[in-house]
Amino acid sequence: MTAQILDGNALGQKLRAGFKQKAEELAAQGVRPGLAVILVGEDAASQVYVRNKVNACAQAGFYSEKHAYAPDVALRVVLDKIAELNADPKIHGILVQLPLPRHFDADAVLDAIAAEKDVDGFRAENVGALMLGQPCFIPCTPYGAMKFFEDAGISLKGKEAVVVGRSNIVGKPMAMLLMHAGATVTVCHSQTRDLKAHCLRADILVAAIGKPKMITGDMIKPGAVVIDVGINRLQDGPDTGKLCGDVDFAAAREVASFITPVPGGVGPMTITMLLANTLESAERSLNA
Ligand code: NDP
Repeated sequence: MTAQILDGNALGQKLRAGFKQKAEELAAQGVRPGLAVILVGEDAASQVYVRNKVNACAQAGFYSEKHAYAPDVALRVVLDKIAELNADPKIHGILVQLPLPRHFDADAVLDAIAAEKDVDGFRAENVGALMLGQPCFIPCTPYGAMKFFEDAGISLKGKEAVVVGRSNIVGKPMAMLLMHAGATVTVCHSQTRDLKAHCLRADILVAAIGKPKMITGDMIKPGAVVIDVGINRLQDGPDTGKLCGDVDFAAAREVASFITPVPGGVGPMTITMLLANTLESAERSLNA
C-alpha cells in the first residue's frame, strides 16, 4: 500500500480562500481581523515562522503587526506591549512566538495575554474550556491536524488513536480533540514502555516528539493514518540541513493509508488555523 498524502499546503489554501472572503465581509462592517506577533530573540526558525505568519495575514486580507525584541530585552517591556495590545481594538489576536529566551518566564508572558485574544489557545481558560468541550480557541497545531481528518472524510469514532508526545501545545490538546471526536486515545511519552507496541495498535498515529524519523515503518499498523507534527533539521548524512518529521516518511508511506509530509503537512495547517482563530476573535468582537 502507498499512502495518500494529506497535503497541508493545498488544504490550507482552500481554507484560507474562505477566510479571505470572510475577512472582507467583516471589514465591510468595520472590523478587519488583526493579529499582533511578538518575537523575542534571534532564533532563526522562529524568525521564519513569524515571517510566514505575517505573510499569511497579508494574503488573507488581515491586518498584522510584528514586535521584535533583542534577546536581552526586559520582561517588563514585553509585558507592557502585551497590555497595550490587549487594549487595542485593531488587534483580535496576540501571539508570542515560542520558545522565549531562557531568562523569560514564559507562563508570565502567556498569562498576560487577554483570554479573548489568546488565539494560540495556551492560557488556562482556553485549556480548561477545551477539556470541558466548551467554546474556546483551540491550539493551532492540533486544530490543523483535526482538519485533515475532516477534509479526507476519515471518521475517528471508535478508532484507536495514539499520540506520541504530551506537550501542552501539541500532544495534550491533540489527545483531547481526538477523544472528543470519539477515538480511544493513548498518550505516549519519554517514559512509555514499549512505544512500538502502542504505535502498532494505532489506527490514527500522531507523532509530536521532536526527534527526526523516530517512528519507523515497522512501528506503523498497515492502513493507519499518520500525522507527523515534528519539524526537525537533519544534522548529518546526505540531506544535512533539510527538514524532516518525526516519522520515517519513505518507509511509513508504504504501510499507512494516509500520511502528512514534512514539510507541507501540519506546518501550513498550523498557520491556517491561527488565521481561523484570529478571524473567530474578530467575529466575536463584532458581536460583543
Ligand atoms: P516538546 O519537546 O515540548 O515535547 C516532546 C514530547 O515528546 C514530550 O512529551 C516527550 O516526552 C516526548 N518524547 C521525547 N522523546 C521521546 C521518546 N524517546 N519516546 C516517546 N516520547 C518522547 O515538543 P513539542 O510538542 O513542542 O513539539 C514536538 C515536535 O513538533 C517538534 O519537532 C516541534 O518542532 C514540532 N512542532 C511542529 C509544529 C507545526 O506547526 N508543525 C508546531 C509545534 C511543534 P516527555 O514529556 O516525557 O519529555
